[in-house]
Amino acid sequence: MIVILHPDTPTDGAECREVLDYLAAKPGINPKLHQIVGTQQTLTEIYLVGDTASLDKEEIESLPAVERVVRVSREYRVVGRHAGDTRAGGFGYNGVQFDQDNLHVFAGLCAVDTPRHVEKMMQALQAHGQVCTRMGAYKPRTNPYSFQGLGRDCLPWVFELAGKYAIKVIAMEVTHESHVEEIHTALERTGHATGVMLQIGTRNTQNFELLKSVGRQREFPVLLKRGFGITLDESLNAAEYLASEGNRRVIFCLRGMKTHLGDPHRNFVDFAHVPVVKRLTLMPVAIDPSHSVGSREQAPDGLLDVMHATAQGVIAGANLVLADFHPAPAKALVDGPQALHLEELPHFLDDIAIAREAYAKRSRRAAEAGR
Ligand code: PEP
Ligand code: MN
Repeated sequence: MIVILHPDTPTDGAECREVLDYLAAKPGINPKLHQIVGTQQTLTEIYLVGDTASLDKEEIESLPAVERVVRVSREYRVVGRHAGDTRAGGFGYNGVQFDQDNLHVFAGLCAVDTPRHVEKMMQALQAHGQVCTRMGAYKPRTNPYSFQGLGRDCLPWVFELAGKYAIKVIAMEVTHESHVEEIHTALERTGHATGVMLQIGTRNTQNFELLKSVGRQREFPVLLKRGFGITLDESLNAAEYLASEGNRRVIFCLRGMKTHLGDPHRNFVDFAHVPVVKRLTLMPVAIDPSHSVGSREQAPDGLLDVMHATAQGVIAGANLVLADFHPAPAKALVDGPQALHLEELPHFLDDIAIAREAYAKRSRRAAEAGR
């Protein structure tokens, strides 16, 4: 059960205390206070865990501080989409709005290597009106002798270059909670030249201690990758870990499942789950066609498999596209063979716009049919 207070109710005021005291007096109920600080207003929600069936919804709603009460199903209490639930699922971060209705492209380097490559990438993004990118500084590698990413040393110049080219949000994977602090420090030192969305990779989807610590911090939103070898339910529960610790600014990213049944693709493309995640939860849904397809193979129609997969995700309503690009793929230190080339960026963006337009048409039709 979620008790939603009127916007801007002070948590140290008498009205909020009255609600908490009322709930604390109920046996077997454990109330947890969550605050969502937005640019316009602060929302306070109280999550109730325990035997909530015996609680009287109307009685709670009659308390002056309470706006409404939502009974949640057992699944995904915080990130889930529940009957009668009108909570907003999206969020704004560093001037960019993320929700289930819009679409952003995060084209960028799988792994940061040189300032020149990062600059060329960001320059191209700005030239094509893009304000988001991906930049891997901490790389989780299968082989311990492979390049592990430049780590914190590259953060100052990556963030400065982002500021120079007006990049607002960088998706950057973290593999340890200390990386969050390193990103925070580097952003402070560069005068918050840009913003960072913390990426949790598919190898860490069930790293529960990492999920808890990233969930406890409220500074950065999170892009959570689906686990490559677990069920969708298990991955959605990973998102719930983040949210239940207090960070509801979570985007869920499909990136393909590890099975040879998807050959010759690197992973089995799972973008048919875009509408499923939107139906089950309030989270914006991302797709990562690069790590799903993992090659630059081309279909007879002239389109790369990776562009076909991207279009399939976008036409199904994806809200974010994460894609590997590189100005000199032959020199890339990670995943060069699957990277799109900078010259392909306008075509890629165009193809996404075509698929997005088709999605808009499809959803308009569906709305008309339902009236
Ligand atoms: C990545 O996006 O760089 C990455 C390693 O992805 P995944 O965790 O999906 O393999
Ligand atoms: Mn990669």
